[in-house]
Amino acid sequence: MDDSRYTTEQLRQLDKRHVWHPFTQMQDWDLEDQIVIERGAGCWLIDTEGGRYLDGVASMWTNVHGHCHPELNAALKQQVDRLEHSTLLGLASEQSIMLAAELAKITPPGLDRFFYSDNGSTAMEVAVKMAYQYQVHGGHPERSRFITFKNAYHGDTLGAVSIGGIGIYHTTFKPLMFETIQASAPYCYRCELGFQDQRSCGMRCMDALESLLQEHAGLCAGLVIEPLLQGAGGMLVQPTGFLAAVRELCTRYGVLMIADEVATGFGRTGSMFACQRENVVPDIMALSKGIAAGYLPLAVTVTTDHVYSAFLGSYSDLKTFFHGHTFTGNPLACAVGLKSLELFERDSIIDHLQHKIEWLENRLKLLLEMSHVGDVRQCGMAAGIELVENKQTRQAYPWEQKIGIRVCCEARKSGVFSRPLGNTIVIYPPLVISESELELLLDVLQQSIKKVTES
Ligand SMILES: *Cc1c(COP(=O)(O)O)cnc(C)c1O
Repeated sequence: MDDSRYTTEQLRQLDKRHVWHPFTQMQDWDLEDQIVIERGAGCWLIDTEGGRYLDGVASMWTNVHGHCHPELNAALKQQVDRLEHSTLLGLASEQSIMLAAELAKITPPGLDRFFYSDNGSTAMEVAVKMAYQYQVHGGHPERSRFITFKNAYHGDTLGAVSIGGIGIYHTTFKPLMFETIQASAPYCYRCELGFQDQRSCGMRCMDALESLLQEHAGLCAGLVIEPLLQGAGGMLVQPTGFLAAVRELCTRYGVLMIADEVATGFGRTGSMFACQRENVVPDIMALSKGIAAGYLPLAVTVTTDHVYSAFLGSYSDLKTFFHGHTFTGNPLACAVGLKSLELFERDSIIDHLQHKIEWLENRLKLLLEMSHVGDVRQCGMAAGIELVENKQTRQAYPWEQKIGIRVCCEARKSGVFSRPLGNTIVIYPPLVISESELELLLDVLQQSIKKVTES
């Protein structure tokens, strides 16, 4: 291998010439010298010039055990010499079977049927189509609508966009979308019902959701929710009991509960799955980001025997679930996913999180004393720091000021990579981050917030 084939400058030029980056204003991108990542080690990303960056957002919320983990690498190398890919259309494959069987042991009870795809958006497309076809098979083709939440994010393909609720990402595509019934979601810092304090509200937002169900349930296939935490919407944490109450309503009104655990799954919230924190068993659950430890694209939509059985019948009944993706159940990704589950257990990853989660909670409280930190929100090893122009009135910074982006640019100078959600600074490191690295992450973000907002 010849590492010196391209200089950093050549790579940057070629990137600007050919690569269109996601969620990126390329006109701004082209004006800057971008970091070109070449290697990874533990929680660090290393660029072509040897610069090191703490991966504060776990490479888009996917990384669990660190980069280039020796045992994950070995599992991948071992699998590539056995089989790189074969289809699940008409054939079974070893690794996809074993991963499903292992996942069945740890997913909420009753979720035993696994439909593979390759990313979070496809997992949600599958969930939506599965829920609707289930209703059709039950003799309810009129049940075609979905209850969704404001500020929700479920991916960027059209079905996933339709069930999303983030204006800046989704409004443009409205003419291409199907309609949903949108419920307001708890964003307690900016409560739509005007409550200032979460402890006094008695979760009145539940009443509005119940009214929606009362009115529309008969035409609904399902309700779609990001359990505990709306991630891309700004790290919005739901009050304790909200998820369980939603489950109860779904049961009472007979709509399927679809839990999008693409971001929250695999330990992020301090349990293996967010639903488990409130003893909730959804009817359908989508998993992706952490499933293959951040190594390869893989996703799965999990459901119950009850939903699965509705699709059984003779060939001519046309009950088949006509859906599938080319790289469904890829053996390389499944092999890494299996090894990752083994590491979760052997290294007691979840147990070791609890101390870090507590430390983070205390550290975030200190940030709240800063003059432009309006709110801090935490759910396990995920957190958001919302910056505001005026702390008294909770007045937001105008988005054109790019305050979040500016803070993250500042942090980068001190060797921390983060990516904001609007005015909210995100903390979402690999789960194995050490306490000293976590401290560094928080110190650098605090200094960067101070520099950008107080100068
Ligand atoms: C990231 C994300 C998705 C979409 O996953 P992709 O792999 O980017 O398509 C869906 N739902 C949630 C909650 C996510 O955070």
